[in-house]
Parts: sequence; structure tokens; C-alpha cells
Amino acid sequence: MTMQGVRTRFAPSPTGYMHVGNLRTALYAYLMAKSQNGTFILRIEDTDQERYVEGAVDIIYNTLKEAGLYWDEGPDIGGPVGPYVQSERMSMFKKYAEQLVESGHAYYCFCDKDRLEEVRVLQKASGIAPKYDGHCRNLSKEEVAQKLAANIPYVIRQKMPLEGTTSFHDEVYGLITVDNDTLDDQILIKADGMPTYNFANVVDDHTMGITHVIRGSEYLSSAPKYNLLYEAFGWEIPTYIHCPPVMKNATEKLSKRNGDASYQDLVAKGYLPAAIVNYLALLGWAPKGEQEIFTMEELKKEFSVSGISKSPSIFDNQKLDYVNAEYIRRLPLEQFHEIALPWIRQTVKREDVDTQLIAKVLQSRTEVLNQIPEQVDFIDRLPEYDTALYVHKKMKTNEETSLEALKAVLPVLEGLEDFTEESIHEALFQLIADLGVKNGYLLWPVRVAVSGKQFTPGGGVEICAILGKDESIARIRKGIALLSK
Ligand code: GLU
Repeated sequence: MTMQGVRTRFAPSPTGYMHVGNLRTALYAYLMAKSQNGTFILRIEDTDQERYVEGAVDIIYNTLKEAGLYWDEGPDIGGPVGPYVQSERMSMFKKYAEQLVESGHAYYCFCDKDRLEEVRVLQKASGIAPKYDGHCRNLSKEEVAQKLAANIPYVIRQKMPLEGTTSFHDEVYGLITVDNDTLDDQILIKADGMPTYNFANVVDDHTMGITHVIRGSEYLSSAPKYNLLYEAFGWEIPTYIHCPPVMKNATEKLSKRNGDASYQDLVAKGYLPAAIVNYLALLGWAPKGEQEIFTMEELKKEFSVSGISKSPSIFDNQKLDYVNAEYIRRLPLEQFHEIALPWIRQTVKREDVDTQLIAKVLQSRTEVLNQIPEQVDFIDRLPEYDTALYVHKKMKTNEETSLEALKAVLPVLEGLEDFTEESIHEALFQLIADLGVKNGYLLWPVRVAVSGKQFTPGGGVEICAILGKDESIARIRKGIALLSK
């Protein structure tokens, strides 16, 4: 492998969403290039028009940009080996196939649908794996010329060796060998003159100077055919790096249907793009040391193909939550506030609250942004609650002690001119000292009274500061009233 001139590509089909497995492939291709000062190329493989989805290419662009995977050549920015959209390259493939016919590695096939169907049915009946039977493999030059002159429709097929084996080396899976008699004489050029996907993919990779082909392991079984094409052309074989599948669990793949497989689904749930990328880097690749949180710059330095594992990667939601929480903690408060605000606003409609303060309290207590609305749902309106909440074993509080505590707190809060986190904190701790009680004895009842909940982001002091003086006092009074019943 030369250190210079590494060229990798991400070749997504515009399906309308970005599967996390594909995003991981893109990331590895990007890191492979960038770790070697190489070039990362984006090629859109849109020849399968049936799968075409409006706006899908934009989803690819936006996802890669959000993820920080900037391409050096691509459809929108051009480059020396364009066009970078496969459908715009259609006219160039046939001559390559004809070159293979010339050299004896491909042939014209004039079999019509009915004949192929007959072969298929016969093969099925005899329990043979369906495969072209080679009927046109050995037509003479004259026969071919005759049929072409008679305008009989044809396809061009790859002439697979009938005996022996084909081997290739994959950086992740090692040496892979298949028996040639299992390989089908696959179609390279269809009757309409257009290439098949497999053919276009190989010709594109070569003509774009791709040195490292990084893709999902589902292409591993096609790789022998691809490899034979490179050999037939006499082209340099790229380094193959097939990435293991991303699984939901030991047996099921992560799939679109579960609503947990796409990058967009994860963002919608409140995962940060950078955290998703960091997590995906670790999903199937092991860094050398213990470090788990990496900036993109660090990943570029750290990444090496030898760290990619060939065993299936199981998507670990807990690990993703952990990585996401780490990213949230590391954000400057300003930025977290901006990101958290739409989530806060799902349940907090009050305009007179300091959302900065809410964000500050949430930042250390949020793993995924979608936890936010529920965490702050008590701010607009005190929920109905059971006074049993005041009973806390560890804090040694019960309904009577809580009533006493709230009665002591009420005048202190009422007397506060300046109602800030600091002043509330100071006043309540002064009261704790004056009464000679434990912190929890006082703070637990306050927290319950102002939130009506058992679990809250932040303690009583912070919640009072968020709610403001009037609302805090009203809620303490409500607590006193409930406990006095
Ligand atoms: N277009 C293929 C896909 O989206 C990628 C094939 C490849 O990387 O060779 O799965």
C-alpha cells in the first residue's frame, strides 16, 4: 500500500435515508483516506431507478456534512474524474464491455427471455442453483456477426472460468477463495445497452482511481466476480475492506423497519451528530488504547484498518447514550442551550422562565435530548402528587417533618428580595444551620413541594430559581396545605 495517493469513495444509492451501517462505511472510507492524507470521493449510485426517491441525494449531502465527512470530489463540487453521478456515466460502459469481448473475457448472448426461463425451470426441477447455462459462450465470430446484423437483441455476459478457483484478499476477512464453477456468467451490459450495477461499480472504481474499496460485507459474495473483472482488464486490484454488518442483536440486522436504523431517526431522538459519528467509529473498530471519546481530528490520526473486527457489530444503545451524554457535557452552555431549547419548549410554554438556567440544570443530567420534555414538564404547572412523596427513608423525612420544614422555609423565601440560585442557596443553608438539621430534612420537602415529582433535574434550590419567587412560594404553600390535611 503506497502512503501517497490513497483514494477512497463512498458510493451510496439514494434510498431516502441513511442507514447507520452505511454512515459507518462512509466514516471508515473517510478516515482511511484522511489518515493517509488521501482523497475522499462521493459517488452517487443512482442507476437503480426503481429505488429512486425524490430528495434522497440531498439527504446524503446533508448527512455527510452534519457528520463532518467532507468529500474532496463529488457531484456538487466536481473533480478530475467526473461525472460523480452514475447515471451520468452511462455512455462510457459499453466500450469497456466490448473490450472484454475482444479479449475473450466476455461474450454476446442472444438468448431470449423464454429460453432463459426454460433453463431456470429445468435447473430448479433438478435442484441445481440457477445460473446461465453458457448457451452462447462459444458462438463463432461469424454466428455473432450474423445475429448482430439481424438485429437480434443481446446482452454482454462475463465469461467466468469453468474450473479452478478465484481468490482475493480482504483486509478484514482475509483470504477468500471460491470455486469458479459457482460463479454465474453475469450480465455486464443489458439489452438496452446500459451496464448492470456490478459492472458499472467496477468500471467506476477503476476509472475514478479508487485504491481502497470500503463497503459493507453484503458485497463480499460479489467480490470474486469484481476481482475477475479487474484481472480481465489487467487493472490494478484495489485493496478491499469489507465492513461487518451492524446488528440489532445476535440474530437480527438493524433494519429500517424498526425505526432505529437510520441516522435521521437517531438525530430525531436527540442524539448529536458528532456523538453518533464517534459511536459509529467504535462500532466494529477498536482503537489501540482505552480512549473512547474522539474528535474527528483524533480519529483521523488513530484510525487504522487493522482495528476493524470481522465479527458482526451489535448496536449498543446504552453505549450510544453514554457517548451522547459525554458530548452533551462537553458543549459550552450557550450551545447546549440552543440545542436543548426546542426540547424544553415542548413542555415549557411559560415565557417568564430563564431557559438558560433550565439548560444549565439539564446539561449534566441529560443523556439523550428526548429525555428533556419529561424532565421539565412540572415547570408550567405543578402536577398532582401524593404526599407519600415526602416520605424518604434515606433523607429521614416523612409527612410531619416535611410540614415542619416547609413551614420554616416559607417565611425565609418570602423574605428574599433577590431571588437567585445563589441567594436561595444561601438562605436555605443558613436555615439548615439555624435549625441544626440535616440538608435533606429541609431540601427534600422543598424539592417535592416545588416539583411534585420524585425525580427532577436539579434540587429544590435550582428549581425555585427556575420557577421564580411567586410560583415557588405558591407551591410551598400548596405543599403545606396538602400536608396539613
Ligand atoms: N451503492 C452501494 C450501496 O449503497 C454501495 C456499493 C459499494 O460500495 O461498492 O449499498
